[in-house]
Amino acid sequence: MVAKARIGVLALQGDFAEHIEMLENLSAKAVKVKKHSDLNKLDGLIIPGGESTAIKKLIDRYDFENIIKEKVRDGMSLWGTCAGLICIANKLTEDDPKPMKLIDAEVSRNWFGRQIDSFETNLKFKGIKGDIKAVFIRAPIVNKVSSDVEVLSTLDEDTIVAIKQDKILGTSFHPEISGSTKVHEYFIKLSKT
Ligand code: GLN
Repeated sequence: MVAKARIGVLALQGDFAEHIEMLENLSAKAVKVKKHSDLNKLDGLIIPGGESTAIKKLIDRYDFENIIKEKVRDGMSLWGTCAGLICIANKLTEDDPKPMKLIDAEVSRNWFGRQIDSFETNLKFKGIKGDIKAVFIRAPIVNKVSSDVEVLSTLDEDTIVAIKQDKILGTSFHPEISGSTKVHEYFIKLSKT
């Protein structure tokens, strides 16, 4: 029997519980990551949505940045959703927070402004069959990517909302509250490669 993927969810702030629930319904062992040793033997790690300044402050306070980088270097996959994407970007158009520079992309926070700061839509996602349901909540977008980064999904043709570089995935939206499991299945598969 093939061993289940062990996927951690960084549980410092934000909607980590929804990711854990989603993973538990799929073929993965979900691990709530609250301390460094919870990162041992993970195939993948999710940094959830929430408030990126708060998440990054807690990453700094509990000294998670270097150990996450080490684990990624050793082959752990990583997925940042919404605030999580902000935390893993190389560069932000805002001064705060200081991102961890794990994916070669520039990201802008709160892109959709106040009027439509939350919405739901169906999107095409490279590598996934059929549409996916995506929930955007005060979401960021990706402004620029390097040639090492693959664009997986766009909104209105040119607004980039999902990217991948090697085993690092970033999405502007929240698949964990969409009721659709496709992007989690995609990440579980990526984590087992
Ligand atoms: N706007 C939030 C931030 O900048 C992200 C929102 C989210 O994760 N849903 O951190």
